[in-house]
Formats: sequence, structure tokens, C-alpha cells
Amino acid sequence: MEKKEFKAESKRLLDLMINSIYTHREIFLREIISNASDAIDKLCYRSLTDDQVGMKRQDFAITITTDEENRTLTVSDNGIGMSEKELEDNLGVIASSGTFQFRQEMDESDNTDVIGQFGVGFYSAFMVADHISVVTRRYGEEQGWRWESDGVDGYTIEPCEKESVGTDIIMHIKPDGEESNEFTQYLQEYTLRRLVKKYSDYIRFPIRMLVTHSRRKEGSPDDKPEFEDVQEMETLNSMVPLWQRPKSEVTKEEYDKFYQERFGDFAPPQSVITVSAEGSVTYKALLFIPSQASGLYYTQDFEPGLQLYSSGVMIMDKCADLLPECFNFVRGVVESPDLSLNISRELLQHDRQLKIISNNLEKKIRGELERMLRDDREGYEKFFKNFGRRLKVSAIDGYGAKKEQLQDLLLFYSSTEKKQVTLKEYVSRMPEEQKYIYYATGASVETMDHMPQTELLKERNMEILYFTDQADGFLPDAFHSYADKPFRSAIDGDLGLEDKEQENGEEEHQECFDFIRETLGERVNQVKASNKLKTHPVCMTSGEGLTFEMEKYFHAVQPDMPMKAQRILEINVKHPAFTALESARIMDEEKAEKYVEILYNQALLIAGLPVEDPTAYTDLLCSLWQ
Ligand code: ADP
Ligand code: MG
Repeated sequence: MEKKEFKAESKRLLDLMINSIYTHREIFLREIISNASDAIDKLCYRSLTDDQVGMKRQDFAITITTDEENRTLTVSDNGIGMSEKELEDNLGVIASSGTFQFRQEMDESDNTDVIGQFGVGFYSAFMVADHISVVTRRYGEEQGWRWESDGVDGYTIEPCEKESVGTDIIMHIKPDGEESNEFTQYLQEYTLRRLVKKYSDYIRFPIRMLVTHSRRKEGSPDDKPEFEDVQEMETLNSMVPLWQRPKSEVTKEEYDKFYQERFGDFAPPQSVITVSAEGSVTYKALLFIPSQASGLYYTQDFEPGLQLYSSGVMIMDKCADLLPECFNFVRGVVESPDLSLNISRELLQHDRQLKIISNNLEKKIRGELERMLRDDREGYEKFFKNFGRRLKVSAIDGYGAKKEQLQDLLLFYSSTEKKQVTLKEYVSRMPEEQKYIYYATGASVETMDHMPQTELLKERNMEILYFTDQADGFLPDAFHSYADKPFRSAIDGDLGLEDKEQENGEEEHQECFDFIRETLGERVNQVKASNKLKTHPVCMTSGEGLTFEMEKYFHAVQPDMPMKAQRILEINVKHPAFTALESARIMDEEKAEKYVEILYNQALLIAGLPVEDPTAYTDLLCSLWQ
């Protein structure tokens, strides 16, 4: 018998399969099963028009058999089979379709992960097997054929007996390395069952395996039951995917169970979204909004993405391209026949189709969130607690590139409503003369509520949005305005109120202000009389630009590149403390300097900024009693 060589290109891929890939070995089973399923598809299709086939839809099946002693794993199908020429053409060259592309990708990216993303085909079985026999008989032929290979040095083909039409792929599983069953596991029921569930659950034909159950022996006494092992044929896959069934036919419990099992969440999802699209790309999607953020969600280790299926076969576990970043907390499944397994090999070229799907899904998810906000406020607030941060960060990203899409989904705490409100609600309540959307940034609602700077607005019953999330501080810059109303900080700088409050009375106290400026020198950028303060003597503001919250944020993320906000000391000239300072300046300049220091440090403290020298500050306070 003549041994034939693989084509050069195939040889290199084989070599790669056998030697350099350690992760994703398990996908070989998916590949072998999907080939079996394709072969059945072909014969099944034929049976519709050709009575000679003599088989019905329910007769078709894929069978997995193991022989631990001889270390063989066999996947059999009763599909179309292969003729001698087909064997040669199909298995002699590494699958013609996309594998070349796959190789290029491997070479370029040096990223073995791509193997999980591409359909790598029949040859992937050499990752776990050192010898493969394919015994096959083509529909319409009497003669069977046996193809054999142990990988690198080629293959042989010879005629053989085969009783029925179809194909057996017999894989001789490699020996284990020391102290592990890395290969033997592929002969074990547990692993095979798991892999079928994971990758091939929704193959449309039954995947059967002889499994062992322990059963009570018939007639064994009740008080001393005896057990025996029995072997039964079991179908491992569920065949009809949940997402292929109309929503009206699926119960909430079924969705919950599916979500929890598949995505390993303890809690049922907060929302279920189903999509069935036909048109430029045909697909079905089943999406879930989790009811809690997983521990990983806000970390680097979180991997977003949806499971991608094509004709019952999982192509990718986490296809990130299907989800926009703003909604990357969504879990779920997308299935499209337009991305057949063959096509999936050139997945990168199918960007356009993925993009269309992703754009549609984005709209659907946004629609669902809008619905929740409208019809289930409590539920939405709960959702926002979990994932609002993501929405805010995405809304700000790229100078507010997604502002339009996301702005109405954001919630902020309102000083007057004492609850979370939307920007739309805020604007709808604005009195006519109010020109700005006021906001305050700070660590918590309580601190902002007590900030001296918010006194004036509160006195006038004007609503302030409290920005407590670090991301919030960047929002006014990214958005500029909402519904043509610009954002304005209630804490920093000018409030833009057009009335007498604007007169702040600095002129009458010019000398005293000069004295304060002299005393503080470069520590402050500006000293001015304030119109915001009512009961407090001083406050520190940052004016336009970087806020103190941003300064703190930058300090935390890049401590060696300090970014400093401006420091504007605002003074309430009507406050007794200022009056005391003014008279001290005339009577006892040394004491007046102390007053300035104290007021300055107080302003820092209220703004949540560190006092430069805490000991000196407390000494200073105590010195007033001496
Ligand atoms: P692909 O499935 O993408 O074409 P594979 O490497 O998985 O690439 O398979 C190569 C070819 O071998 C298939 O296209 C098919 O023609 C043939 N083949 C593989 N397995 C079977 C099978 N079980 N029955 C019939 N033909 C098969
Ligand atoms: Mg294949």
C-alpha cells in the first residue's frame, strides 16, 4: 500500500496542531461532531427528494463510543459518507476553505487563542490523537474505504468492508504525560458529556453515547438493596436551542435556568431580551441583563462578549465584537446561519455582518433599558446601581461620542427630590429664569449637602445634581450641555445668577483682601468675595477647568504626575469671622495673619483637600487661647 504525503501547507499546520498548541485542545470534538452533522445534513436533505435513502429525519444520529483499554474514541455518523476520491480530496489537503487564512493569522499574531475562534477542522483531532482511522462508505456505493494516518508522515487509503452508509472517525488517544490525565480524559464519560454540552448542545441531530448508570437490582431486598451497573444509550445534547423557540412558548423559569446554568450566576437575570432578525443578516439572539455585577465586572479580568453560534455549533464563547462597550455587561447567545462554520474561519472578514448584528443589538438593549426606566423605575434604579457606572464612563468616553444614545439613561442624585433623577426630569423642573444645570462633585451626597457653596442655591430651592462617582466629574466637560442647558458647577466659580447676589462687596474691603493675598502668596490662585456663602465664612473653589475631585482622581491613578486644580479662596464678607479679621488687621497684624491661615485651612478641609501641615494648623488654633 502506497503512503501518500500531505501537501506542504497542510504539513505545516499539522505540525502546529500537534506540537505547539496546548490550549483549546478540547475543541477537536466540536470539529469532528460538526463534520458529522454536516454529513448528516447532506443525506437528510437528499432524503427529502430521494426515496432510495430510506431514512427519516429521526433516524439520523451521531454516536460516540469509547474503548478505554485500546484508548480509542470513535465518533460515528450515518450521513452521506465519502468515496475514495472524496477521502483523498477532503482529508489529503488541509481543508481547503479557510485554513490558510487561519495559518496566516497564527503566524502574524502568534496568538494561539485564534484556534478557538476558527473552525480548524478535521486535523484538530491530531491534537489529542496519535493515530486516526476514518472508515467510511459513501451513499450510493457498496464499497467502503479506510483512511489512516498518524499525522506528520502522510496517510494511506485502502478498501474495506462497511455495513452501512456513513463515517466512523476512530481516534487513538495519545498517552498521558506524567502525573496527569490530560489525554485520557477524552476517553471518559464525564469529559465527553461536558464537551458536548459546552460546544455542541444545539446540534440538530442527537449525539448519543452509551453511559453507565447504577440501578437497583430487581428483586433485591428493601432492607439490603443491591445495585448493578447498566449501560444505556443517552442523548447528550438538547438539540432545540432556547433562542430558536418563540418567546411566548418559553417560561420565565426556563429562561432563568438557562441563564444561571450557562453563565454561572446565582441570581436570575433582571431582563430577558429576544431578537429575531431577517434581512441583510439573519440571526436570532437571546440576551440577558444580569441582576448583579459579577465580582470581576469592574476589573481588568472581566471578559465581555456573547456566545456565537452558527447552525447549532458554537463558534466562539465570548465574541466581544457583538456588543458595544457601553452594554458589555449583557450576557447571551447569538446564532446566525449567515456565519456558517466554514465562513467563521474568516471571521475577521465578516466584520461587516458582525457590525450589523452589533448595531441592532445595541438598539435592542437600549430599548429595553428605556422601557425599564419608563415602566419599572425601581428595577431600573437597581440596574443602574450595578451598571450605571459603565453607562456613565461610556457616555463620557471619546468626548461624549455616545452622548446622544446614553444621556437619557443616566441617573443622578437630586438635592431637592432626594432621589435619583434623569437629566430630562431635571430640565423639565427648571424655572424659566434658571439658565444652567447645576451640579456638585464630591465623595458623598452628605458631604455635598453640607458644602457651604451649595447654600445659596439651596436657599433658593434650586435643584443640584450630586455627582458622587469619579466618572461623573468628567461629564460636564464631555457633554457641555443637555437640551441646550449648559452644565455649571454649584461649587466652583460663578453661579451665573443674574441678580444682586452678583454684587459681592469686595471693593469696600479692598485693603483687607490685599492683605489676605499677601499672606497666602502662591498658595492660592485667587482670593475673592463670595456671593454663594450664607452661614459659612469661607470656601475653596477651583473655577473652570480641573475640579478638586478630578485632581484627587488623577493623584490616585498617576501620583508622580500631579495635576493641580486652581485654588480660589472665596470669602463671606458678612460673616463675623471676616469682621474679626478686618479689625485684627488694624489692631494686631500678627493675629490677623493667624486668622488668614485658619480660614485658608478651613477652606481646604471643607473642600476635602489635605491640610498642608496639620500639626502647625492645630498649634495655630491653640495659640489663639494663649
Ligand atoms: P470543513 O468541515 O470546514 O470543510 P474539515 O477539515 O472539518 O473542514 O473537513 C474537511 C472535509 O472532510 C469536509 O468538508 C467534508 O467534506 C469531509 N468530512 C469530514 N468529516 C466527514 C464526515 N464525518 N462525513 C463526511 N465527510 C466528512
Ligand atoms: Mg469541519
